[in-house]
Amino acid sequence: MKFLKALIALIIVSLLVPAYPHGQEGSQIIMYVKDYDGFVRILLKSNADEYIQNAAISEAYSIVKIDFPGTFDLIKEQEGANVLASSRGSSLFLQISNLERIKVIKLPSPSRLVIDAYFAPVRQDTVPKEKTGIGNFNVVIDPGHGGSDSGIVSSSSQIKESALSLTVAQGLHKALGSTVKKLYLTRTIETTVPIELRIRDGVLNNPDIFVSIHMSKTNSFDIYTATPVTQSLKESTEDNDYTRQSDYMSKSAELAKAIGEALVTKHDVKVNYGDLPIPILYEISAAAILIELPSAENFTYNDETIGVIVNAIKQGIESYAAK
Ligand SMILES: [Zn+2]
Repeated sequence: MKFLKALIALIIVSLLVPAYPHGQEGSQIIMYVKDYDGFVRILLKSNADEYIQNAAISEAYSIVKIDFPGTFDLIKEQEGANVLASSRGSSLFLQISNLERIKVIKLPSPSRLVIDAYFAPVRQDTVPKEKTGIGNFNVVIDPGHGGSDSGIVSSSSQIKESALSLTVAQGLHKALGSTVKKLYLTRTIETTVPIELRIRDGVLNNPDIFVSIHMSKTNSFDIYTATPVTQSLKESTEDNDYTRQSDYMSKSAELAKAIGEALVTKHDVKVNYGDLPIPILYEISAAAILIELPSAENFTYNDETIGVIVNAIKQGIESYAAK
C-alpha cells in the first residue's frame, strides 16, 4: 500500500513537472564576453546541458537571438563593451554594435556555445608586417591534435603525437615566452581543440610567427608551408579567409628555412620541405609553418632530444626574427 501511494505520488509529480522541451526549473545560462581585435567572443554555458545542445541561433540587424528549450536565469560572468544582453521568455537577445556576421560553434562535454561576432568592416590590413627583433614578435604555437584525437601513436614506444607536440610547445613556451612580445599556445593541456578554434586563435592573436607542431610517419623533419593559392582554388570557394596567407608566402618560406637549418645542425636527421593545402596555414596572416617531427619509430624521444628540438626551433625563430 505504501508502495502504491509512493507510485501514485511519483506519477502526479511527473505530470506536474513540465517535460522537455518546456525547460527545466532553475536552468541557468552563464555568459562570458571577451573583446578581441575586430570581433567579440560570447561563450555560453548552462547547468542544463540540453539547453546548449538544443539552442537555436538566429541573427538580424545587429541582434543575435538564441532560443533555448525553456526559461532560464541569465548570469553575466563577464561583460564586454560591445554586447548588450537581455532575456525574454526562453530567448536570449544579444545586441552587438556594428555587427557584420557571426560564427557559431557548439562544443561538447560540457556543452558550450561559442559565438564569435565580427564587426564591420573587418578587413585587416594585409600588408606584411616589417619587424625585426624577437622582442617585437607575437608567436602562436599550435600543438597538433589533443584529447580524444591522439594523432599518430607509435606502436613500439606508445608515444602519442598529441603528447609530443604539447611537450615541445610547452618547451617553446618556457624557452621563448619571456623573450617575445607575446607567446600564445592554442592548447595548453591534453584536450580536444577544434580546428576552427585553432585557426581563430591563430588569426586573432595577431601573430608574426605561427608554428603548428606534429609528428610524422617518416624519419625526417618535414616542414610545410601553405600551398600557393591558385585561381581554381579561388573560384572553388566563397570563403575569402584562405587568401590571408598569400601576402606572407615568402615570409613563411624564410621561417621554414631558418627552422630547418637550425634543426639540421643539431641532429643527424634530414629536413624535407613541402607544402600543404590546409586552412590552418593559409588562413593565417603571418609567417606560418607546420612542422612534423620524425616518427617515434625512427627517432628516440627523451628529455634531452626533445630539449634539442625545442632549442633548434627557438634558434630558427630567433634567426628569422633577426633578419
Ligand atoms: Zn598531426
